[in-house]
Amino acid sequence: MRTVETLQFDHSFARLPGAFYTRLFPTPLPTPYLVHFNEDAAGLIDLHPKEAARPEFIDYFSGNRLLPGSEPLAMLYSGHQFGVYVPQLGDGRAILLGEVRNQAGERWEMQLKGAGRTPYSRDGDGRAVLRSTIREYLCGEAMQGLGIPTTRALSIVGSDQKIFRETVETAAVLLRLAPSHVRFGSFQIFYYRRQHELLRTLADYVIAHHFPALAEKKEKHALFLMEVVLRTARLMAEWQAVGFAHGVMNTDNMSILGLTFDYGPFGFVEAYDPGFICNHSDHIGRYAFNRQPQIGLWNLSALAQSLTPLISKEAATEALDQYEPVFNAHYTTLMARKLGLKEFRNEDVPLLLDLLRLLQSNKIDYTHFFRALGNFKQAPGERNSDLRARFIDIAAFDAWAERYRSRLLADTLPDAERKRAMDRINPKYILRNYLAQIAIRKATEERDYTEIGRLLHLLRRPFDEQPEMARYAEPPPDWAKEIQVSCSS
Ligand code: AMP
Ligand code: MG
Repeated sequence: MRTVETLQFDHSFARLPGAFYTRLFPTPLPTPYLVHFNEDAAGLIDLHPKEAARPEFIDYFSGNRLLPGSEPLAMLYSGHQFGVYVPQLGDGRAILLGEVRNQAGERWEMQLKGAGRTPYSRDGDGRAVLRSTIREYLCGEAMQGLGIPTTRALSIVGSDQKIFRETVETAAVLLRLAPSHVRFGSFQIFYYRRQHELLRTLADYVIAHHFPALAEKKEKHALFLMEVVLRTARLMAEWQAVGFAHGVMNTDNMSILGLTFDYGPFGFVEAYDPGFICNHSDHIGRYAFNRQPQIGLWNLSALAQSLTPLISKEAATEALDQYEPVFNAHYTTLMARKLGLKEFRNEDVPLLLDLLRLLQSNKIDYTHFFRALGNFKQAPGERNSDLRARFIDIAAFDAWAERYRSRLLADTLPDAERKRAMDRINPKYILRNYLAQIAIRKATEERDYTEIGRLLHLLRRPFDEQPEMARYAEPPPDWAKEIQVSCSS
């Protein structure tokens, strides 16, 4: 276990040519105080959990004092925002401190988010508001608990500094951890600027550090694209199966490692609605829940296009052609598990689609339904009253339940065994917006951060019953309808 001063820094990204970043220091954060510290994430960099109690911790993790051994920089990238290419973005408020190598040999980049203005800030103030850092902090751990690839967060340091968004809020700095913060947009910028040597340097760097198995292969750039396609397809399937909507799938928010990245106005589907738009400012629904799989492919096509100076058009097409079959195979595998089926068969497509239609027309909570489906009794004559009672159109449910029952009989799994398996894939707890909102309200109005800790603890084990926490599985209260989340974070 290490102290803040003895972290083993390495700086592979900072060793790249200066064209990839700007070196600069974080802007001091006035009146910093610790909001929360994530002991689990500290374990990723071998940081001793007691370190958070030291007064210096706040200075280091607010950006007020430079972490010994760090080499801070802001990364350069561009990207398609809502379908429109923006020639230069870059870390406008994030500062990469460097990479830490842990005892297991893994590298974790440490990035301060909300650490002040950079040359890429455009009109932004370089800060993040406490509200949005809490949301990112909680959702990273929630996704980790669900087994979905994600960036993590180590700490939040708050401040009394006033920040102007739609209303006046206060600033906070999040310490984010990821093996790499390279995005699709990190490649796009050098393609559009026709700086193909830099493009190659970046691709070779990412391959050497994050896809080492490809490093010696002749077609390594094409294989790299293929790997990003596969990871992204699988990630999209995971999001769709669990009901996660990202909200801002711009290419600068797409991780080259296939991680859930840059949590903004995300949301989990509650009353099932395939057209769910979690981002209040996404008026046309470009990033609606049911469009995510096709947007994933659109974004990959933008990445593939940017790699064409390094790979043939045929190789790019071949990689992109893998997307749909991989997405479909992974999504149907996950949905079969959610339904308690041993495997997904072609004839299960109508069973699944009819169920989703029923959930939509009956406005049934997606997470609740699948969790409750684990209690389905397949014996003839069983009415499954608990499930039945959730539907307005009971006859339609009964008809579906009969089809489901006969499908289950073909699998010959006893009810109890099926339930055990289903409870490992159908979470009882998700980060509902209203739960995050309660934690945010307590933090911003009362400086009470206990709810953040309670949610972290709960969401790390989303599949466990945790009966004492059952109220956290309740449907959103009426006031939750008023919550609006947008890009302004
Ligand atoms: P996002 O929508 O948070 O992924 O951000 C898109 C771009 O805007 C990135 O280049 C960010 O660094 C930049 N950005 C977002 N918020 C701010 C801010 N408050 N100050 C400076 N830059 C920002
Ligand atoms: Mg972003």
